[in-house]
Amino acid sequence: MIVLVINAGSSSVKFTCFDMAGGGKPLAGGLIERIGLDDTSMKYTNHKGDVLKSKVAVKDAQEAVKLISDKLVDPQHGVLKSLSEVKAIGHRVVHGGESVTDPVIIDEKVKAIIRDCFSIAPLHNPPNLIGIEACEAVFPGVANVGVFDTAFHATMPAHAYLYGLPYDLYTEHKIRRYGFHGTSHAYVSRQAAALLGAKPEDVKVIVCHLGNGGSISAVSGGKCQDTSMGLTPLEGLIMGTRCGDLDPAIVWNIMKIKGLDANGVDNYLNKKSGLLGLAGIGSSDLRDIEEAHNKGNQQCRQALETYAYRIKKYIGAYMAALGGLDCVAFTAGVGENSATMRELVLKGLDGLGLKLDKAKNDLRSSEPRFVNASDSPIKIAVIPTDEEQEIAGQTYALVK
Ligand code: AMP
Repeated sequence: MIVLVINAGSSSVKFTCFDMAGGGKPLAGGLIERIGLDDTSMKYTNHKGDVLKSKVAVKDAQEAVKLISDKLVDPQHGVLKSLSEVKAIGHRVVHGGESVTDPVIIDEKVKAIIRDCFSIAPLHNPPNLIGIEACEAVFPGVANVGVFDTAFHATMPAHAYLYGLPYDLYTEHKIRRYGFHGTSHAYVSRQAAALLGAKPEDVKVIVCHLGNGGSISAVSGGKCQDTSMGLTPLEGLIMGTRCGDLDPAIVWNIMKIKGLDANGVDNYLNKKSGLLGLAGIGSSDLRDIEEAHNKGNQQCRQALETYAYRIKKYIGAYMAALGGLDCVAFTAGVGENSATMRELVLKGLDGLGLKLDKAKNDLRSSEPRFVNASDSPIKIAVIPTDEEQEIAGQTYALVK
């Protein structure tokens, strides 16, 4: 059974085509970027080793999905004989509010839920819905499944998701913590259990998803108990360009100091803060900041330490929340690739049972692996995330 996974953003559509009957093997995938602009480009790879990069004329998501469908059945580079082989399409959808706790077949009711969340996920939910409607047009009759970033966190107890605000803000306006990156947290926490040789039901795991965005979650018995992102992805860790946790009074202070309105301060905290703002070298990429630090830039050193310290604090907090811990797992761009950052985060945590093996930590690999010392009471893992695979698996499980 062929499952296509679509991740539609504001100006891009990412796709992977999986053969689920063949054990979830990816057959082809790629990305169409800068949709609607003069220099729209497409990258396409397949399991035969073809790598194609081309400039394309694509004005919207529907044209992008049509182009993807054409490529999948292309006589030379395609991987399918006919589009009728595609039995389901799994869509990454960022916000499902409170009502979506599992993957769902998308119908008009689900689309209304996605629309209801436009105001709290204005950058993500509208293009996600456009991607769904594009697939409905290009693949008529094929089941579209929504796999929501918020769904894995739906098991959080009320004491973890409520804010210290008047209760009617929750009951009437649904102001609460939801959490994001749920597909990655679900995948990595399950992989961590497998690496431990245990069932997800039997382990306590902290997942540090450190990418351009970053979030950390506390998972017990395969269920999320707490996570660092909140109503929106702005809360929690310091990220590439997002500030993470703040004293809320800073918001109106910034508005006064910088002369910003609500939209302006939203943009300031989401796009100009985090590592970008702290390091002050015009880049939010951890590689650039590590390089500047290695050349002696003190502000970059401070930015790295501040970023790491926030993660360390959350690990401590989540050990308390879980009442114990079997494994800390690092994933995503920074978590998988920066040995320096993992070392900085775990520095001084030996007393809590987290002992890193420096040599193992410094070894580069794309395989899930432990990097803890052999006598570390708690395991430390590096696990490459695979959100597409997880979306395909959840889609397949629902429709098969
Ligand atoms: P993601 O959002 O998961 O794709 O992660 C992207 C981020 O990972 C980039 O912005 C970089 O900051 C970081 N990253 C990727 N590779 C490395 C690396 N080798 N060392 C440090 N950071 C990295």
